[in-house]
Amino acid sequence: MLVFKNAKLIDGTGKEPVENASILIEHGRFREIGTDLSYPGDTIVIDLKGKTVIPGLIDAHIHINGSSRLDRPGASHLIPSYNFAEMREGCLRWGVVAVRSCGQFVEETLAFREGVENGTIERSPRVCMSGPMFQSPGGHPCYTVFMSDPDVEQFACAIVKEDTEIEPIIKKSKEQGVDFTKVFYAHLNKMDYPNPVPRISKKKLQEIIDISHRYGLSVTVHVDCPEEMKDAVELGADVIEHMIGAGETQNDFSDELVALTKQSGAIIDPTMISIKRFDPLNDSAPSVWNAVKKAVMKCYHAGIPLAVGCDAGIPFVPFGEAVHDEMACLNDVGIPPLEVITMATSGNAKLLGMDDHIGTIEPGKDADLIVLEKDPLEDIKNTKTIELVFLKGRVVTDCISEM
Ligand SMILES: [Zn+2]
Repeated sequence: MLVFKNAKLIDGTGKEPVENASILIEHGRFREIGTDLSYPGDTIVIDLKGKTVIPGLIDAHIHINGSSRLDRPGASHLIPSYNFAEMREGCLRWGVVAVRSCGQFVEETLAFREGVENGTIERSPRVCMSGPMFQSPGGHPCYTVFMSDPDVEQFACAIVKEDTEIEPIIKKSKEQGVDFTKVFYAHLNKMDYPNPVPRISKKKLQEIIDISHRYGLSVTVHVDCPEEMKDAVELGADVIEHMIGAGETQNDFSDELVALTKQSGAIIDPTMISIKRFDPLNDSAPSVWNAVKKAVMKCYHAGIPLAVGCDAGIPFVPFGEAVHDEMACLNDVGIPPLEVITMATSGNAKLLGMDDHIGTIEPGKDADLIVLEKDPLEDIKNTKTIELVFLKGRVVTDCISEM
């Protein structure tokens, strides 16, 4: 058994922090949490006086086989021995214990996830993943950022024409065990701005959403502008990714759209950091940053649930660390640090369907936690002052010994 004592505990439930908390861990799980615990004499005791403990963090939007670095071989030349190493090590270094991959090579990722779940791959966050990325011929992302890469087209995408049969694709995804459907309902051309690319029709979007729901899969929709968001929300999207893309010119989030979104129950995953890093998109593009902040603030004040996703795995958005930058962006629009931490832990755990075992520091949950040198409630940037990361009761990152 292992016990942390004298910690300031932020447990991820949203409750106010507890001072001088003790956290008892046994067999990889939290056994007991309190201010006056008793435990056997042979228990390992770690005194955390002056430190803060938070649950492991969760990234609601990554691309698991992507890379933030430009010096790595392209996605289609993925080397088997690489085995998602950048994702795994980046996440564990920065206390990210679960990820939601919103588009990737499906078969390779299914095999990898299997290894994570059966324990043959130990050093990895847990994985929730989409099926193939539904998108239009000539559209984003296969024919823009992936430059028509044939491997991406064949193994990571489902290219949707007007007469494409959707049901067999969803049926296969369901049988393979993917967790949700990802659709691009988007027009921005990041490689040849401002010329737009085609997007799938509203009719096809409806079909993808309806059939996914019939098969018990939730649907997450990448949109670039309020008009696309309105269509997606009206048609029953469960999660909206981004809201406003870098370079977008229609940025007016009407009160009607916010009310409609609230009423629909959709979750918004604004991925602010991924937009900030590309803003402005180029010399002829307007900055969208203020519009993004305003839209997120409007959603927050309307009580719309927000996810903490980064789009890690795209250039300049590194795995793991980006979650801390996204949390800082959310705090920057006026969301208090305690709420931001709750969103990135228990909130995201619900979105990934993992809230029965991760997301909070409570008895019975997996013993994932981060020890911070400084208090993140004083400054959200202190979530980066990581000393230790525990995954299922084991140390996976130790910054103290490295110092
Ligand atoms: Zn993405």
